[in-house]
Amino acid sequence: LDDISPSPHIEYDRLLGGLLIDGFDEKSCRSRYQFARYHTSPSIPSPYLIERLRKQELLQKKCGPGTKAYNEASKKLRSGQSTNTTDCNYLLLTIHAGLGNRMLEITSVFLYALLTNRILLVDRYMEIGDLFCEPFPGTSWLVPSDFPLNYGDFTQRSPESYGNMLQNKVAAGNTDLSLAGTRPHYVFLYLDGDNDFHDRLFFCEDDQRFLQGVQWLIIRTDMYFVPSLFLIPAFQDELGRLFPEKDTVFHHLARYLFHPSNDIWYTVTKYYRFYLAKAEKRVGIQIRIYEKKGILQRNGPFPHILNQIFSCAQNEKLLPEIGMAEGAAETQNKAQTQNNRTIAVLTTSLSSWYSDQIQKKYDEHATVDGTTVEVHQPSHEEYQRSKNKKHNKKALAEIYLLSMTDELITSGFSTFGYAAQGLAGLKPWIMFRSESHVVPDPPCDRAMSIEPCFHNAPFYDCKAKRNTDLGKVVPYVRHCEDVSWGLKIV
Ligand code: GDP
Repeated sequence: LDDISPSPHIEYDRLLGGLLIDGFDEKSCRSRYQFARYHTSPSIPSPYLIERLRKQELLQKKCGPGTKAYNEASKKLRSGQSTNTTDCNYLLLTIHAGLGNRMLEITSVFLYALLTNRILLVDRYMEIGDLFCEPFPGTSWLVPSDFPLNYGDFTQRSPESYGNMLQNKVAAGNTDLSLAGTRPHYVFLYLDGDNDFHDRLFFCEDDQRFLQGVQWLIIRTDMYFVPSLFLIPAFQDELGRLFPEKDTVFHHLARYLFHPSNDIWYTVTKYYRFYLAKAEKRVGIQIRIYEKKGILQRNGPFPHILNQIFSCAQNEKLLPEIGMAEGAAETQNKAQTQNNRTIAVLTTSLSSWYSDQIQKKYDEHATVDGTTVEVHQPSHEEYQRSKNKKHNKKALAEIYLLSMTDELITSGFSTFGYAAQGLAGLKPWIMFRSESHVVPDPPCDRAMSIEPCFHNAPFYDCKAKRNTDLGKVVPYVRHCEDVSWGLKIV
């Protein structure tokens, strides 16, 4: 399998600037040391980030499943005993959303674990173990099956949820949980997109101080909440040291954490070699449609979205213009003598209609500069089935294939696209959502940074205790291009 490199003679840094360590069994997880061959990173990780990752690995190993520390901590949790924190404090992530969301939430939660010296454990029932290799050496990040709590049953309304605890204390006239006497032995943090004011107080420094004293945190989120961590004063120095280039958080952490399992990686590299490797340029187009057609959400066909793709790709010179249909053959002949370039387009979509139409257009019309355009789409699943393992494997393969392109057009709002751009280290051209089936003007715009957007960012100033525009507090956290109320790091 070693000849799958797109450029076998080019030196590449298999350890991604020190993010990864040697010593994992290469055969059991080929993507870990091969991904470096398929993208050019715009940034090198800071020595401090590398130091902290190594420290975290030691902590994961010291406190992870099967260790004495873990057994004691889970025993206390089972008995309902109130405990103080020890050297081993835990953060357990429950998982439920689509794959893009999952990658963003895992990355956010990992960074939070790093900032608060907790061990990250993830839900074992949502096939994370089938999709990704273990990220930490000598231990597992999957929570053991005999974990004492039924975390899958927790909801926003559970009494253990932080928002509820706060509300109950407020109702009892005590706004300071730490004064309430007994410390809870665990707290459930509900940070899904539909959470409310009290849940979101998680993002306040005082609340962080309280949570620091709780040994077990169980967290449910489908969001990239990193931008709001950058607004918590207590974390700012550390974040600055970890990420001197602030807009590389997802890029580095995702390349550290995610390594597709061998079968997915085999699909990815085979597809790359077959369809993408030989082209002079690779353009990724991620088509995610949120329009409503009838009662159901459908993927079209929507001609205005096809027009949007063409306008974006051609205005931004990502794909060549086409000549007049009548003169196709003639232009082609002339052009062929000028140019034998091929552009490989990788489209991803739940529908095959858009890529078929793009290919048809380039088959029927010659390009003005004679470039050949070939369009490839690995799958068309028609609708989202996030509980289906095969479906998720295809989705993951496509996120990685998109990340191996040279230029990227994404659909605004979509975490699937965010994951691809972040892994790649590319600033995509984002296609905005269309209103009433009209192509937006402009159809797309270049992203300010490679970071994902936090769709559900709080807008509460914890100190002043009132709502405020948090997109204007520090220069490196701004409102997103595609989600005006969201926040992203730039
Ligand atoms: P988002 O909903 O666009 O933010 O992205 P998510 O990845 O969180 O959820 C969408 C899910 O729908 C994906 O995980 C896939 O299961 C499916 N899906 C959406 N677009 C595509 C696509 O282009 N290719 C494939 N294979 N699946 C897709």
